[in-house]
Amino acid sequence: MRTRFRGIAQREGVLIQGPAGWGEFSPFAEYGAVESARWLAAAREAAHDGWPEPLRDRVPVNVTIPAVDADRAHAMTAASGCGTAKVKVAERGQDEADDLERVEAVRDAIGPGGRVRVDVNGGWDVGTAVRMIRALDRFDLEYVEQPCATLEELARVRLRVDVPVAADESIRRAEDPLKVRAAGAADIAVLKAQPLGGVRSALKVAEACGLPVVVSSAVETSVGLAAGLALAAALPELPFACGLATLSLLEGDVVADPLVPRGGEIEVRRPAVDEAALRRYEIGAAGWAGRVRDAAAHLEGEAR
Ligand SMILES: [Mg+2]
Repeated sequence: MRTRFRGIAQREGVLIQGPAGWGEFSPFAEYGAVESARWLAAAREAAHDGWPEPLRDRVPVNVTIPAVDADRAHAMTAASGCGTAKVKVAERGQDEADDLERVEAVRDAIGPGGRVRVDVNGGWDVGTAVRMIRALDRFDLEYVEQPCATLEELARVRLRVDVPVAADESIRRAEDPLKVRAAGAADIAVLKAQPLGGVRSALKVAEACGLPVVVSSAVETSVGLAAGLALAAALPELPFACGLATLSLLEGDVVADPLVPRGGEIEVRRPAVDEAALRRYEIGAAGWAGRVRDAAAHLEGEAR
């Protein structure tokens, strides 16, 4: 990782190769076999089955602006070439004025025709969320992502603000989007291919929950990102820019021609794995062999 993210400095995973290509299995360290089984199903789909036909050949993506100062936020937005920016707010150790200044700077840099969303990562209580969303909406918010931690809080916020609410951390498993919808907790679902068991499984989840979807990455190499891209490309409707421009969080990649945005869009394609790059980032498989075996055992148990 270029900088620590989700408390980790090094992103690890397993790449598997099959007749359809390469797949990525990179559940986070704290995930057990049951949860990791979904991630393995996604890697197997990529390697053995491939993905449904794309309905579009480009996917618009957002630039993500971390909790930096306003000048830096302005420069990052302007340099990105993206028409949509996601701004991180509610960072520990900062105050509300920092958030207001950052969002104002991003709006200024992106212009009146651009879209600005904020991501709270569950950091506000209901009262703070309502107050801050109203204050930040003076810069015209597209939506607010995960303003509070729980579904119950999200639902209460949603009733009191005009800005649409998106659920991200509330969705980790296939059944979660249905719970989000049942609770009236969000207007938009942020979906990731790996935790939902692959592209086909995520498409089914999107259809079942009926909410507009934003596809996001799980901080993957271009191998994993290609699955997210395939999901975004196969959704019947894609009203929002996706959170797939995450390769810049990593110091390197395992393909020669990485899935990075140009002009605010990523081309829908599947870059070939580069063996030299693969060797450069290779780590010992000790812990991972067991994680693959346990996840596989869980999948086989389910299939019986
Ligand atoms: Mg988020």
